[in-house]
Order: sequence, then structure tokens, then C-alpha cells
Amino acid sequence: MKMSRYLVPTLKEDPSDAVITSHRLMLRAGLIRKESAGMYIYLPLGLRVLQKIIAIIREEMNKSGALEFLMPELTSADLWKESGRWHSMGPEMIRIKDRNGIEYALAPTHEEAFTNVIRMIVTSYKDLPVNAYQINTKFRDEIRPRFGVMRSKEFIMKDAYSFDSDEDGLEGSYQIMRQTYRTIFKRCGLETIPVEADTGSMGGSNSEEFMVASEVGEEVLLLCEVCGYKSNQERATCQYQLSPTNEDEEALAIVDTPDVRTINELVQFFGCSAHTFLKSLIYVADGTPIMAVVPGDREINEVKLKNTLNAVDLELAPDAVVEEVTGAPVGFAGPILVKGKALRIIFDTQIKTIKNAITGANQRDKHYKGVNPGRDFVIGQEADIVLVVAGDRCPHCGNALIETRGIEVGHIFKLGYKYTRAMNVKVLDKNGKAITPIMGCYGIGVNRTMAAVIEQHNDDRGIIWPMSVAPFQVHCISLAKNEKEEGAADTIYSMLVDAGIEVLYDDRTASPGFKFGDADLIGIPIRITLGKAFFGDSSSIEVKLRNKDEKIIIAKDMIVDYCKKQIVQMLQKLNA
Ligand SMILES: [Zn+2]
Repeated sequence: MKMSRYLVPTLKEDPSDAVITSHRLMLRAGLIRKESAGMYIYLPLGLRVLQKIIAIIREEMNKSGALEFLMPELTSADLWKESGRWHSMGPEMIRIKDRNGIEYALAPTHEEAFTNVIRMIVTSYKDLPVNAYQINTKFRDEIRPRFGVMRSKEFIMKDAYSFDSDEDGLEGSYQIMRQTYRTIFKRCGLETIPVEADTGSMGGSNSEEFMVASEVGEEVLLLCEVCGYKSNQERATCQYQLSPTNEDEEALAIVDTPDVRTINELVQFFGCSAHTFLKSLIYVADGTPIMAVVPGDREINEVKLKNTLNAVDLELAPDAVVEEVTGAPVGFAGPILVKGKALRIIFDTQIKTIKNAITGANQRDKHYKGVNPGRDFVIGQEADIVLVVAGDRCPHCGNALIETRGIEVGHIFKLGYKYTRAMNVKVLDKNGKAITPIMGCYGIGVNRTMAAVIEQHNDDRGIIWPMSVAPFQVHCISLAKNEKEEGAADTIYSMLVDAGIEVLYDDRTASPGFKFGDADLIGIPIRITLGKAFFGDSSSIEVKLRNKDEKIIIAKDMIVDYCKKQIVQMLQKLNA
């Protein structure tokens, strides 16, 4: 492609609204432009990268045996109502009506749509397993779109849905996707961290997220450097440092604590460690108030709590609800309820080990001390509901966990029977009996993958593309000063193109410095320069790889072979 005939609007300055590297470089290298908040235009150069990522995904999905579909993006409300998600999807789902008042959603995901098509076309166990996928646009009404294409309102996803006769079958389909995802990201030049992820009420090792480590990542990951445990914070567990329990039990006593409400204020007031306090928070879970109790030095993991409760909605109770259910203003709640009050309480599993604890007395300006679980209140339901943080002990080996941030580029998930049951999908098994297939779902954010590749491959001059997803394979810079030299440069360009090499040819009238600056910014892996040496007697060509500093000189006759060999080697490395 001749740059004189192409549109690559590179920018010399950093755009003011781009706070992360990938967003900044995508704008500067002329890959994208912003259309409006959370919506991006892919310019020709950017689109080539996106298409290369899509091609890798498609190739590996097809190799895995998955079947490609193309689903409508306008999905009928009836499907969403059948699964119960028309309401539970909330305001992130964009809903519209046609001229007849019929409701649709601009699909944020396609579980219902794929379940529906399988219901239509699959009748026998002989057609199972099937893994149906598409590469298509998704919509999400983000409150705060940010970080460029990382969190946008419209994005491209590869989403796949497997249907199996039974759980063993699902395990097989899931394992194939686990491997396929590793291959896809490796081929894109991405180093991902597969982590255990939250599985909602499914439980078990049934979900894995593929994360790219990044300071700007929105997910918090906990990693063990000794045994390799990796988990999303939403799901992470840890070994507890149990406190010694050979202390004598003190008598329960009520203490006046005027205006002492927060854990810090309590630590000051009582002069003991935060761990001794029973932090009691009131939530509303699907409309019903509940209490959650954790040690005072821990935070509650609301995802774990929600799963324990099997709740769809969980939020902190408003002050009025706290007063109503505990009988006291906010700050004085505790598990020893006032007579006549009843409340479902979830205790963290550490609570039973705390002796002579301090907790709110469910009365204004009063706390209990000498509280002993089991004696002063019954531990009805306990569950692991604390948020695991850096320094906590690895659940497998006890080593201190470290924290890092990540960008989620892929997610594989055993869905179970949620959709096939709700939508009444039946197939006949080999005995002619109707069975309900079990599902898995598997997503990759295509635009995010592109941004994540840039986050992992750049320097202060620009992008450093892995060969597999580079917009072009060779960046050929001509420094021709007259028509004769231009003709000679054009010959090299034609030779490369005829050999099947993808070449971005800088034949523009501009200074060498400007052209080299653009080449570094755009980041094509192989740069060849047709300069003085080439136009002079030696006919030699300067070659520089974007990820290396040294320049080498190649004879004109060898340049095609050299480039071909480099391309093959670079691709092989990513395939290995
Ligand atoms: Zn470990």
C-alpha cells in the first residue's frame, strides 16, 4: 500500500483525552478516531489489525470444531423475557421499539438467541455436542465509557455457546475452549494470566478469565508466586490466620460509646485490635434485609456474599432500613439482636474463632464487649465472605499472595442448565427420552484484545506489533530525491508485493525524520530503508526490526528472501 494513496493521520502530540497507552497510541498512529463517547471508528490501518485478530480467532475456533453463525444484533424482547433477563439485565441493555411498538434489545450478549436457534434446529443427541459461535457487534450502555476501545458502548465480540448431553460432555467442550483460548492469545502475541473467576451460583472450577496484566486494568488479581494459584479477587479465597482461643471467656457487658461508630473510632476507644470487632453490615438482597458479619479488619466481598445468598440484587441497605431492622441508627449494628427482631445473618467463617469480641448493641451509642460467638449468639449460617487482599495466605500453600491488576480479554464459563431450562430446550437421547442439554459460554473481546496487545508491546516511540497482528509486515521507506530514484524504489516495493509480502510503502514527499517517526509510531515489525546506499553504487538496503536497535545492510537481490524468512520466523515463534 502506497502511503501517498492511503489515509494514515498520525498525530505528533498526545491527545488530551487519552489516559492509557493503548488509547493514546491508537489515536496517534492513525488506527482509530472517536465518533462520540464510547464509540470508535476504525480507520483503514486499524481495521487491518482488527481483521487479523478476527482471522486468528476464526481459524482456531474452526479448528476446535466450533460452527460459525451470524445472529441478528436486534434481539426480540420475547427471548429475553423467556429467560427472565429482560428485567435483570438492567439499564446497561439498550432497548428499542419498532414503529409497531414491538420491543427489542441491541444484544449485549447472545445466550438467549443461541439457545433459541439450537431449540429450533437440534432435536437429537446425535447432533450434540455443538459449539456455536459468531464474531459480531455487542452493545452496552456504559455509564462511563473510558480507556478508548477498552470500555466502549459498541464492541466486537467472539461469543460461543456449547451444548452437550451431560456434564461430562460439557467438561470436554470446556477443556477444548481452555486450550483454544491459550492458543488464540499466544498467536496474537499476548501473554495472558488465566485466573479462576466468579461463577455465580455454579461453584467449582468452572470459570476462567484470561487477563492481561496492566496498571490500568479494572480487575484485581491475586497471585501466588510459589504454587501458581491465580484468582480474580471476586472469587479469591485464603487461609485464615487463626487467633489463639485459649483466653478465658469474659462476661458479656454493655458499654456506652457515644458517637463511636467506625472501626477506627472503636479501635481508639477500646484500645484493641480491629480484628476483635464483629463488623456487621446490613444489606438488601432481592428486597429482603440481611446482616453480614466479618472481622473488623476485613472487608466484605459482595460477590461472594451474593453467591452465598443466591441473590440477583445485593446492595447496602439505606439508613432507614438499618434502623428498622436493628432498632438502632447506622454504626451500632451487631449479631445480638434486640428482642422481637429477626434477621437472616451470614457469618464469615472466621467469626467463630474470635473470643471476647466487641460489637454494636443495636442501641444508639452502645456496644457490647466480652462477646463470645456460640454463647451470646448462634452462628446459624457461615460462609467465606471476606475480600482477599495482598498479603493474605494462599489457599493452597499458605504463601503470601500478591496483588496485580488486569484487563479481561476472554472468559470461559460453564453455564449449566440456566438457559436451556428456562427456554425449555429438549433433545431426544439414545433411548428416545427427552433430555435438556447443558451449556457453556466462551467470549473474547476483539477490540480489547487489540488494545491489550498494544499495552504489552510498545516503547516511548510507539507501537511494536507482533508479526501476526501487525497491520503490514514490512514498512518500506523511500528517501528518493528524484524521478529516477523513485522508479528504483518502486521496483523494490513491487518485488516485495509480488512475493506476497504485505508492505506499507512510504513514498510520500516528506523528510526522513518525519518518515522514521511515523514508522516507529505505527510499529510494523520490519522496516527497510531505500536511501543513499541503495540509490548509489552498492544497491544495498538498510533493515531494522522494530523490536531491535541495530540496523543491518542487505543486498538488493537478497531483500525479498530476507523479509520472507524474517516473517516466517516471527510467526513461528508465536505459533510455538
Ligand atoms: Zn500458593
